Formats: sequence, structure tokens, C-alpha cells
Amino acid sequence: MIIVLRPDATKDQVNHIIEKVKVLGLTPHVSQGTERTIIGVIGPEDVLRVTPLEVFPGVESVLPVLAPYKLVSKEFRKEGSVIDLGKGVKIGGKKAIIMGGPCAIENEPTLREIALAIKECGVSVIRGGAFKPRTSPYSFQGLGEEGLKILKRVGDELNMVTVSEVMDTRDVGLVAQYVDVMQIGARNMQNFNLLKEVGLTRKPVMLKRGMASIVKETLMSAEYIMSGGNFNVILCERGIRTFEDSTRNTLDVSAVPVAKQLSHLPIIVDPSHAAGKWGLVGPLAKAGVTVGADGLIIEVHTHPEDAKSDGVQSLIPSNFSSLMKELKAIAQAIGREL
Ligand code: PEP
Ligand code: MN
Repeated sequence: MIIVLRPDATKDQVNHIIEKVKVLGLTPHVSQGTERTIIGVIGPEDVLRVTPLEVFPGVESVLPVLAPYKLVSKEFRKEGSVIDLGKGVKIGGKKAIIMGGPCAIENEPTLREIALAIKECGVSVIRGGAFKPRTSPYSFQGLGEEGLKILKRVGDELNMVTVSEVMDTRDVGLVAQYVDVMQIGARNMQNFNLLKEVGLTRKPVMLKRGMASIVKETLMSAEYIMSGGNFNVILCERGIRTFEDSTRNTLDVSAVPVAKQLSHLPIIVDPSHAAGKWGLVGPLAKAGVTVGADGLIIEVHTHPEDAKSDGVQSLIPSNFSSLMKELKAIAQAIGREL
């Protein structure tokens, strides 16, 4: 249920309603829009039949939210959410945010070299996995905390926002301590305990769509995070499993406008894990910006032939730099910045 307040509702009126909602055993989530405040109410709504909130001073209307995702929905917030990633970077606004970096953090000199190369192209967000969800237990599993330390050092040194995956509820505190954005990988999109745990933090969370999940299930996973009080959620389309085997996954470009119709959350595209081959990353990245993604996350490596994971789909800096120029032109053509 959503309580829409009148544009002239006073602070006292808003607080009075919030208190009443809490007394009724419901959880209020306040969203301050540009024109008016709205309060999302989560919990057993039956009690509202006895105490209709419409009669409270300052209330304009009370609307049911029909979608199963409430806080995530467009009904809860009409304008797109802008999420502050720290270090002066915000996602969800006019500027599309490009994130780049290796699949896995391998060592400090290599990460620094990659970070410097992408920074030169105007990128201010560096990605790198320290906990890697590998299909084989014999593949490189990531450097763990040592990797997070390397990422933090490089991020601080170059004033870049850092993104890294958290795979386990037991590591949420640790990862949150080192990174600016926590990534939930495709394989963990429906790890509900992990979603609840990151929902208890206030760190931005980049939630990747599960490889066999529909958009609405992705939104329900985002709802798990938001229902814990963490509203800093960024969705990510990274390709889904289909019968097509020319690419690693099939990039569902329609997921971007679909998610934007249903939700106020920013959504980015990961062309690298969709493509699976570096030669296809550029076209998919361009498609992502064209359909209105709020950003991209692209795997870049200075020595992809030596990469410990996903070298085949990693762009070398010179190709990444040319792509950035093309992306800038596309962004400009559709009234965005990059
Ligand atoms: C990754 O970003 O390196 C990754 C493992 O992605 P996904 O969870 O989308 O497969
Ligand atoms: Mn990868």
C-alpha cells in the first residue's frame, strides 16, 4: 500500500502518519520525491480496514500496490532513483556510468595497470572479483580478503569507485568494509539469505539477473534487499540462458526498457558475460546504451591471454578506448552523457 501525501503536507503530519503506521505493526518506507512525499507501507494491511489512513491530515490518497514487488515498483516512486556510489559518482541520472576491470583481481600491479588504463578513458568505477563463483572447483577461486585489500588500495589511490562480488552471507561484513558497491552474481540472485544480509547494510548493491530468471523475479530479489531498508539497488542485465549457443548467454536487451517500465531502480548492462567473446562485447555494449541502460559493466584486461578467468571476453585497453568513443556518440544522440 502506498500513502500519497498532499504537496503541502507538513513534517508533523508526515511524522504522525509514520508513527500510526508503526503502531499498527506495519513498516513505513518514506520516499521524498521532487513534488511530494509518499510512504510505502509493508506488512499485513488488513489492519487498515479498521483505521483508514485516508482520514489523516496531509494524506491525499491511499493506493494499493498491485505488483508483488512494492518498494521496487514504479508506483512506489515515479521518478527514477539516483544512487550515490560515493567518490562523486551517481548512477540513474543523465550520465551513463561505465564500470570496467578484470573478471578477477589477480595481483596488485595488474589491477593498477588496468585501472589506470580505463581511468584514462574517463572511467571512474573499477570492478574486480575477489570471491569468484566458478563452475569448476578446480578453477581460480579468487584472492579473497587479500584481493579486496588490493582493490581498496587501487580504488583509493586513483579515486575510483570499487565493485566486487559477495557470495556468502558470512562475508557481507568483510566485503562491505572494503568496497563501494557489492555485487550479487547471477548464480546468487535467488540466494534469499544473502539478499537479506546485504539488505541490512546501506552499501549500494548491484544485483545481476539470474541466468534463468525472468525480469519480475529479478525485481522480487531487489525487493528482498529493499525490504531490509537498503534502497541502494542497481539492477544488471547480463544475458540469460537460451537455446542459442553462439554467445555465452543471450543478452536480453528488452529487459532494460521492461525493468524501467516496472521499476524506478537504475539498470546497467553487462555485455561481457552475455557475449563470452571479446569481439561481440562492443556491439552489445552499444545496444545496452541505446536501449537506455544507466550504465555498463565491461571486463577489461591488459593481458587477457594470461587472465585467470574470462580472458576470452576481456577487452584490451585500446579496444576499450575506441568503444568508449563510440558509446559517447551514442549517449549524446539519445540525450545522455557518458
Ligand atoms: C562476474 O561479474 O564476473 C560474474 C561472475 O558475473 P555473473 O554473475 O553475471 O556470471
Ligand atoms: Mn567474469
